[in-house]
Amino acid sequence: MTVDEAPSTTRNDKATPAAPSTGRLQPLGLREVSLRPGFWQQRQETNRVASLEHIEQWLERAGWLGNFDAAVEGRLPGARRGREFSDTEVYKLLEAMAWEYGRTGDTALDRRYRAVVRRVAAAQEPDGYLNTNFGRPGQAPRYSDLEWGHELYSFGHLIQAGVARARTAGPDELFRVAVRAADHVCAAFGPDGIASVCGHPEIEPALAELYRVTGERRYLDQARLFVERRGHRVLADIEFGRAYFQDDVPVREAEVLRGHAVRATYLAAGAVDVAVETGDTELLDAVTRQWRTTVARRTYLTGGMGSRHQDEAFGDDFMLPPDRAYSETCAAIGSVMLSWRLLLAHGDPAYADLIERTLFNVIATSPADDGRGFFYTNTLHQRTPGTEPAPDALLPRAASSLRAPWFAVSCCPTNLARTYASLAAYLATVDDDGLQIHQYAAATIRTTRYGCEITTGYPDEGRITVRITETPESPWTLSLRVPSWAAGATLDGRPVSPGWARVHRRFHPGDVVVLDLPVQPRITAPDPRIDAIRGCVAVERGPIVLCAESVDLPPGVDLNALRVLPHAEERDGVVVVAGRTVQPQASGWPYGPASESVVSGPLDVPLRPYHRWARRGPSTMRVWLPLAGGRTDP
Ligand SMILES: [Zn+2]
Repeated sequence: MTVDEAPSTTRNDKATPAAPSTGRLQPLGLREVSLRPGFWQQRQETNRVASLEHIEQWLERAGWLGNFDAAVEGRLPGARRGREFSDTEVYKLLEAMAWEYGRTGDTALDRRYRAVVRRVAAAQEPDGYLNTNFGRPGQAPRYSDLEWGHELYSFGHLIQAGVARARTAGPDELFRVAVRAADHVCAAFGPDGIASVCGHPEIEPALAELYRVTGERRYLDQARLFVERRGHRVLADIEFGRAYFQDDVPVREAEVLRGHAVRATYLAAGAVDVAVETGDTELLDAVTRQWRTTVARRTYLTGGMGSRHQDEAFGDDFMLPPDRAYSETCAAIGSVMLSWRLLLAHGDPAYADLIERTLFNVIATSPADDGRGFFYTNTLHQRTPGTEPAPDALLPRAASSLRAPWFAVSCCPTNLARTYASLAAYLATVDDDGLQIHQYAAATIRTTRYGCEITTGYPDEGRITVRITETPESPWTLSLRVPSWAAGATLDGRPVSPGWARVHRRFHPGDVVVLDLPVQPRITAPDPRIDAIRGCVAVERGPIVLCAESVDLPPGVDLNALRVLPHAEERDGVVVVAGRTVQPQASGWPYGPASESVVSGPLDVPLRPYHRWARRGPSTMRVWLPLAGGRTDP
């Protein structure tokens, strides 16, 4: 038995997805924070018991895992299956398994992980290159298509998987594969190498994280080089323009995130990593500015990003049509990666606010209840009922309104898997002064200095009880995030404002701190510059965006002709607005006088959490509800 085949016995308490060496806040490890039964633990458990296996089966069935075997057996390119980036889905599964093993010590999962690693490792070439789609006779040469080839993007996910394993269980075969790949990248794209970048960012945060694990400066230097090169038109122009892959403006000069939303958020996350590790405040300020503008002008109520299907991209400022929301699940994950890094760097709870919004309204929305179906896009307005996808079909990515088992481009399921497996990392941080709790879930936190139990029925209920279990003798500060929507919140009965609610004192085991967040329904109106939803309101409850779904309406009532009053109330646990429907134009021409006649109602319109939509069969759905009072402004 070689070292690689021995069961892993060391599991590191401090393992965490992003581990900057400096910053305002320090992350906690996956074994320092454990979820207990509740909203997120249920989903993390579904990911562990169902989604990981589902993904593994599909990777076999679609032949994407088999591509590695085919590479070893010399059957490429003839036997190759899947798109040019399909190797990455295997790497993201490995990353998810690494976090999950680190968290749970599940030895059966560890065996499955090792079996996949052996197949991947066998396909690595002597110089460290590893990609099943390039470089063999009959395939395109290596790095001949940096715009679309995704080779460095693939290395990025390979390296992140290796980093996850090194952090959770120590360096193993996959980590060594990742290091060889990274060394190859540094040689091929270093100062004397190919002076370009990958069309899809991802290598940047991966190399920064590999630097953090190994202390090898060359990985950070290479990440920095990739960040600095981009924006100088090093890639060819394409039909969507160079903004698609953020090669239009240098990162430190850009004002806002633009282009393909996943690429934009991954690049920004990597730029924060580089800025933090090199002390580059100008670069950090640039990304911080871009985040602020993007949140103010280019983000959906759900936290979703990307409003153009054509290029999966951010639209112009305030171009946020609900029925054409692309809001890819992966872009939400990229947004969380970025916000988390900025939160660690700055300590500003605004970043945790956006993480919360995105987790509850995109990342909780995508997976099916059984963990075996997924949304790729996350529209805010479904106009026609979808169809049940065939259980054995690879779906085009945005084709169905119902969650699909797998896609021809299946980036989102594997991205969700690694995110759910490492979810606990985003709950809390420490600094020299104490412990900060950013996200609320039933959980146990046990660091080297502090311990507490968090009890809550959040987000259904707004009460969060923190019971101290371990504490230093000296006074310290417990900081609890008060979300920006939580006007009227109290801490131990005293009013607190959105931002930080802090308790500084000498704690004793058994001490209890109670935060009450008001989670009654509230009406939300959009900025008037978002033309697509002018005259509409949405209803939110705590961190949850609500929606109206056709299956909750009486027969014959058309969701798209609905008008509502700007008032919501909760009855028997269901939020209800008063609505009616109006007469559509009857002339065969969908335009006419600026008046509407009521044809039905009044009726009660029950609203459900957006993350629950499309779980009761095909339906139409909308988040933004037009106000009664006419087609023009209310
Ligand atoms: Zn995706």
